[in-house]
Amino acid sequence: MKSRRIFLQKAGLSALALTALPGLSQASGFSAKPDKILRVAIMGLGSYGTRVAEAMKDSKKAKLVGVISGTPSKVTEWQSKYGIPAKNCYNYENFDQIKDNPDIDAVYVITPNALHKDQVIRVAKAGKHAICEKPMAINAKDGQAMVDACKAAGVQLLIGYRMHFEANTLEAIRMRKSGELGDLKFFQGLSGFVIGDPTQWRLDPKLSGGGAMMDIGIYSINGARYMLGEEPIWVTAQETKTDPVKFRDGIDETIQFQMGFPSGAVASCLSTYAMNGLDKFFLNGSKGWVEMQPSTGYGPIKGKTNKGPLELPHVTHQTVQMDKMAGILLEGEKPEIPVDGVEGVKDMKIIDAIFEAVKTGKKVDLV
Ligand code: NDP
Repeated sequence: MKSRRIFLQKAGLSALALTALPGLSQASGFSAKPDKILRVAIMGLGSYGTRVAEAMKDSKKAKLVGVISGTPSKVTEWQSKYGIPAKNCYNYENFDQIKDNPDIDAVYVITPNALHKDQVIRVAKAGKHAICEKPMAINAKDGQAMVDACKAAGVQLLIGYRMHFEANTLEAIRMRKSGELGDLKFFQGLSGFVIGDPTQWRLDPKLSGGGAMMDIGIYSINGARYMLGEEPIWVTAQETKTDPVKFRDGIDETIQFQMGFPSGAVASCLSTYAMNGLDKFFLNGSKGWVEMQPSTGYGPIKGKTNKGPLELPHVTHQTVQMDKMAGILLEGEKPEIPVDGVEGVKDMKIIDAIFEAVKTGKKVDLV
């Protein structure tokens, strides 16, 4: 924390000092014409930010060109690893200056959940497209504020829903749309893992906005919506807490929830930080079914249907995602399943309703 503060204070100096770093001569592409290449700065150089950066190396349409970080040592490391020039390095205090940087098109926000709202709004005000990790915010009101700010600034907001571009997932959706599965009746989503270090931000409500639901349960919510192709009209939910010390107030450990859809289809889901290996979707229709396990992990996704296995090849999710997002942001392409801020708000409204249902013990209408 101390080094973060010092870094913020010395930001200008750091930026100057970093220009002399070795490895910058490898910064091929910075002076090249950025024709149809999305030039991305990553904000938050943590575990997932690193995964996205590595995956972007293989992207044909997106390139990592900048960083926003509170940790100077990581900035130094990323500069030499990815050939990032000092003029594209920012911290959390000065990143509004990105508005004067013509070499960055979009900022990918990969920080703790509760920080997304203010950071995305600042990115929008700087005139850059925002890509924001899930959950987009900690409630629907904040999510809507982000959508409104991006609209007002004339920039786009995309949410890091990598499964929306995954080939086997899209094949299941093609089968559903073609009618091969018949009338859909039931979706089951199981999303969970055992969370470790009790001191991490994911278990601090001020930074996470919630526990397993915000982090992993959201996959079952989002999956129910894209697998069934409908928006839920009600939810019911029940919480179980076996460790109230690790999972304090505001941090859900395990929530079972149910969603009802206009067609009459029902979803039954589990979100947990207390069970390992829960990553399964099951979709049942009057003529067929799809089962995916794992269904939302980093892959390969494994699926089977009443007609046989789903066998589309695995490509690193974040590589495909960045290529597709470049197409959306630069060429106006439309994804099969939306990944915009409005899509993110739909999930946040459902999370709000699930938390309300847990609190009141009542069915919550979503219309
Ligand atoms: P990490 O803790 O690994 O990284 C978060 C980074 O955010 C930190 O390393 C730090 O980077 C920055 N940060 C800024 N302020 C703070 C703060 N107050 N406390 C802690 N970190 C801070 O988290 P993840 O990378 O796992 O998760 C980040 C986001 O990505 C979350 O919203 C999460 O839900 C999402 N995610 C999405 C996944 C997906 O598959 N789509 C998978 C995993 C996570 P720095 O030092 O550079 O400032």
